[in-house]
Amino acid sequence: MLKIHNSLTGEKQEFKPLRPNEVRMYVCGMTNYDYIHVGHARMLTVFDLIQRYLRSLGYAVTYVRNVTDIDDKIIERAAANGENWADLAGRFTAAMHEDCATLGLQPPDVEPRATQYIGQIIAMTQTLIDKGFAYVAHNNDVMFSVRKFPAYGLLSGKKIDDLRSGSRVQVDDAKLDPLDFVLWKHAKPGEPSWASPWGEGRPGWHIECSAMSTSVLGSYFDLHGGGEDLKFPHHENEIAQSVCACGTPFVNVWMHNGFVRVNDEKMSKSLGNFFTVREVLKTLRDPEVLRFFLLSSHYRGPINYSSVQLTQADETLLGLYRALKEAGTSGAVNAEWMGQFREAMDDDFNTPEALATMQGVAREINQAKAAGDALKAAGGAATLLAMGAVLGVLQQEPDAYLKRSVGSQTVSDADVDALLAARKAARAAKDFGESDRIRAQLTAAGILLEDRPGGATQWRRA
Ligand SMILES: [Zn+2]
Repeated sequence: MLKIHNSLTGEKQEFKPLRPNEVRMYVCGMTNYDYIHVGHARMLTVFDLIQRYLRSLGYAVTYVRNVTDIDDKIIERAAANGENWADLAGRFTAAMHEDCATLGLQPPDVEPRATQYIGQIIAMTQTLIDKGFAYVAHNNDVMFSVRKFPAYGLLSGKKIDDLRSGSRVQVDDAKLDPLDFVLWKHAKPGEPSWASPWGEGRPGWHIECSAMSTSVLGSYFDLHGGGEDLKFPHHENEIAQSVCACGTPFVNVWMHNGFVRVNDEKMSKSLGNFFTVREVLKTLRDPEVLRFFLLSSHYRGPINYSSVQLTQADETLLGLYRALKEAGTSGAVNAEWMGQFREAMDDDFNTPEALATMQGVAREINQAKAAGDALKAAGGAATLLAMGAVLGVLQQEPDAYLKRSVGSQTVSDADVDALLAARKAARAAKDFGESDRIRAQLTAAGILLEDRPGGATQWRRA
């Protein structure tokens, strides 16, 4: 029996899908104006794990994860780069897809982009105006009137009166009440915009998710997820919009993942203490180490990011691959171990417990190998592989995995050869700045060069 912690009730509850054997889930995805960092990778990995586990239980899962491809940050960054906003969003969405694939994430079933749902966003905004929950402000912004929705604040545990006393009305504000939030922003000169009944403009962030989730999954669906920081105001606003527009409940179970912390602070763009996935992967034996690290803590708690923690994850994962090496895989899956693993996962996706079980299986494989019990070792390996398949780890060929060295992700042999050819060409063209740059790049990647008399260059890994 799967139990999930529901942020809405604050309790772990038995999971019952709204439709038999079907799970409809929506996760707030990325606003793509830069490369994803480890904090983003955690959110993406957590919900990838959850949809994988639900599928492993036999549910027909529809996993929707949106892309915000129009937003203040996208417009600002594009202007700073002198780049078209749509090109910028497209470029970083492609980069996110690459990073997700590297981390072993399964693509969502549906990946709606805000700019593809402008019609639905306008229709939902109009419905909210027609029903009296929203108004057109004097500057042609459309605002949601929070005080018209008395249940506002249930998810985050905030009360409207407390929120109101803590907020101030800005002089230039178009809001009738400081708590109101924008559904549709009127166009400013030079900004991308779409035609609407309220003039040219673009959607607010919150309405996107309400329009996309209910368009794809229906007005009332099973699971809605996102990072802990989205609980308020983003998810609170989604609830207000969706419930008021559709007249049904919105989401059965709300799930939120904890932050990645660096030195006890949340990893975030605004604090500048972030590490992009691309940077981190250069230091690792394999991208699987980062996935394993992210799964080694329970999804709801904070996770501390440090090279020490990554090294620990690397060593634990190496241990599991060592157990699999030469253990064979033709044995039968051990039902008792598998039951223990499922019990951990059924308990609100308790991956630390599940990974501890896997280490127990690895110890048993090692003992069986030492005792010459090939049958037991093979059974253990089959069990470990089956568990790994659920979590999206341990699916590589053990021998190949174990041969990889730390930092070997930086450059492949073919990359080194290509860079050496480019360096040779630069030297021939007397572009010594470029040849020095390539040498520095290779050195940083742990590749040592030795120029031999006659112009040949030999290399080795440090
Ligand atoms: Zn959202």
